[in-house]
Amino acid sequence: MSSRLNSLHETDIAYQIHPYTNARVHEQQGPTIITKGEGAYVYDSEGKKYLEGLAGLWSVAVGFSQPRLVEAATKQMAELPYIQNFAHKAHVPGILLAEKLVEMAPDHLTKVFFTNSGSEANDTVVKFVWFVNNMLGRPEKKKFLARNKAYHGITVASGSLTGLPGNQKGFDLPAIPVVHLTCPHHYRWAEEGETEADFTARLLKEAEETILSEGPETIAAFIGEPVMGAGGVMTPPEGYWPGIEALCRKYDILLVSDEVINGFGRTGKPFGCQRYGFKPDIMVTSKQLTSSYMPLAAILVTDEFYQTMADYTAELGTLGHGFTAGGHPVACAVGLENLKIIEELDLMGNAARLEEKFQTGLRQFSDHPIVGEVRGVGLIAGVELVRNKATKESFQPGGKITAMAVKFAAEEGLIVRNIYESIGICPPMIITEEQVDELLVKLGAALDKTMEWAKSEGLM
Ligand code: PMP
Repeated sequence: MSSRLNSLHETDIAYQIHPYTNARVHEQQGPTIITKGEGAYVYDSEGKKYLEGLAGLWSVAVGFSQPRLVEAATKQMAELPYIQNFAHKAHVPGILLAEKLVEMAPDHLTKVFFTNSGSEANDTVVKFVWFVNNMLGRPEKKKFLARNKAYHGITVASGSLTGLPGNQKGFDLPAIPVVHLTCPHHYRWAEEGETEADFTARLLKEAEETILSEGPETIAAFIGEPVMGAGGVMTPPEGYWPGIEALCRKYDILLVSDEVINGFGRTGKPFGCQRYGFKPDIMVTSKQLTSSYMPLAAILVTDEFYQTMADYTAELGTLGHGFTAGGHPVACAVGLENLKIIEELDLMGNAARLEEKFQTGLRQFSDHPIVGEVRGVGLIAGVELVRNKATKESFQPGGKITAMAVKFAAEEGLIVRNIYESIGICPPMIITEEQVDELLVKLGAALDKTMEWAKSEGLM
């Protein structure tokens, strides 16, 4: 087994191009094959142990190899491995999980629709919003507002909402009507000398001007991640979300909170919209919903939205949308148990309690010669690397320095993710104070090694 895996390391057979990795560095390295996980740690095929500082892919809230999730899956497999959700069929884990989600979510979100992935969920949101506006007799109200640097998925509609050229170039995206607004990240997008308050005001002015120039009667919805995740972990400026919410109400635009990463305590509050004080009409969740043990996403909507869909469905005779495995009983059983564990172990409370230590600890790296900005809330953070702290000039070629930082972190026994010029950090929510210390020490060592490497390459 081990020699077969070693040979995989040496070839590119298992190498996969991923949208936000630096292909060149990883190509030389070959993939790391992870064979085992335990709590906040994983092990590779050589037996090396890593603190998993990205929780898989922003998702393994309860840690790896949680026996209760294995048991929930096994029990459901034995009892009822599958039944469809179409044609007036339902199953107990689906019903119980939907009830649990409604109980946990903001009060006004009362109905749930399941898909297999965040991308499918956002494609579904687009279709449902179109469906509702057709029902309401406003077929021209179909455009979406999104933001540059957003990540909403990779399928045709969700990939159109995503605001990362790397995910669109060559794929004929965007393929649905969408307008991307400025990324709400002060460090990179503010003008010279612009305060955070002025930056917020400018972004809100841009949003309103866009709505007016496109015509409010053509804008169906605004979609955003409360904290932007896969585009580089970017926290919004003060006042941004309440301002966006007010514009949505003023112009009758639906507000969609994409909480695929933010949801279930990641930001220090149960949901990101609660952290930033707004009430979305639609909320999308996934990842920490099952700790990614099983593929599942859930869309939550209001009674009013649901009722319009139900009325139109009755009129048309069918709701022509759904997935064979959407809301799969095994995934729902795992999700339900996962949410119970999150509650019983008070993992959302743990994220809130450890926020201070984690975020303050990371901000100590702000003084590091190659660190431009450290940002984040709760248990999610981004560390942006720069060649020149004063001018914020990035290293060239783009993306290579952070790919090296991730490689050095792995040498230290820490998994984190390179996203363009930033390092994404998002540990399992079971992380302890001691493990936060371990993460900080390992990341510090990786940053030092990265700087030495940059010097040796003549990059600084
Ligand atoms: N929305 C957000 C905010 C995400 O972070 C992601 C995935 N990183 C998605 C949607 C897409 O989810 P999936 O990869 O499950 O399709």
